Amino acid sequence: MRQVVSVRDLEEMLKNGKDVKSLPENVLLTPAARDFLRDLENGNGRPHSVANFAEISAKAVNSKSPRSEIDAYFNSAKLHELKEQICDIGRRLWQREYVDGNGGNIAIRVGEDIALCTPTLVSKGFMKPEDICLVDLEGNQICGGNGKKRTSEILMHLQIMKRQPRAVATVHCHPPYSTGFAVAGIEPPTCMIPEYEVFSSVAIAPYRTPGTPEMGKLVADLVDKHNTILMANHGVVSWSHNNVEDAYFKMEILEAYCRTVLVASQLGHAPKTMTPSQLQDLLKIKQSLGIPDPRFGLKECELCDNDGWRPGVTCSVNQQSTDGSSGSHNGDTEVEALVQAITDQIMRGSAAA
Ligand SMILES: [Zn+2]
Repeated sequence: MRQVVSVRDLEEMLKNGKDVKSLPENVLLTPAARDFLRDLENGNGRPHSVANFAEISAKAVNSKSPRSEIDAYFNSAKLHELKEQICDIGRRLWQREYVDGNGGNIAIRVGEDIALCTPTLVSKGFMKPEDICLVDLEGNQICGGNGKKRTSEILMHLQIMKRQPRAVATVHCHPPYSTGFAVAGIEPPTCMIPEYEVFSSVAIAPYRTPGTPEMGKLVADLVDKHNTILMANHGVVSWSHNNVEDAYFKMEILEAYCRTVLVASQLGHAPKTMTPSQLQDLLKIKQSLGIPDPRFGLKECELCDNDGWRPGVTCSVNQQSTDGSSGSHNGDTEVEALVQAITDQIMRGSAAA
């Protein structure tokens, strides 16, 4: 039987000072091990010395670390696995039609002031681990990318990470239903589905040109109490204190919710909502999971406030009249006149009887 060699085996060999080129010809390399060897051979990969492997496992690497340490860390099995996770999430975003063209981006914090992120101008559905870039928290690309530049929207991800130290991963995409709410400037109504209440905490950031520091700041201003930000006229960005898949889950939860709310609002019945005390129970679970929410500590009567949400498409007559008084005021006058006319008629009828 052929011997199977994984990335861990290769790392072990390097750690013990063995040359990975000394592997017998007939070994079976796992796909990750094959990528690992290729990285070692091409421009990204520098031979991992025994010394720096021991060192990087002993202390955290940051943007000021010696280049050799950064490179060894960037090519380590640990980061390779995270790069694969980014590719996997990218594929899921694309398959679910949450991204279009080269839209969307993903980042994972991998040190005090460094993060992995997606490159620019690639479809998120077809990335390879070697496409992933390493940046410092100012957005300077340190390595990786396979000849491509880091995403132009990285500043927003990094500003989230700077402002919210618990954010270990961020995902940005353009899911159509959620983005519809973002375009309309409507925060999804609450108290309808438990998953949304427990896992999501949504707010809307005003529109600014994507990729600008100003856009990043407006989003970062909201991440203290919210983990999912609708970016007006653009899309959604989420962060997680757990991992990148969890940040991605926020997208699935929000998108499914917006879709369901839209369906519910078209069924001809006002959607039923849970009671404030039922919501209170869900918020307790949310708090125990370490997920932020601005409603923690509110009184029950202050929960389930869906002002601003108008179920279904209704035609409200509210035109300004020429004399400046509002349409509804005019409407009131008309109703009064009509009531008066009917009353007069009845009175006349009873007088004639
Ligand atoms: Zn975008």
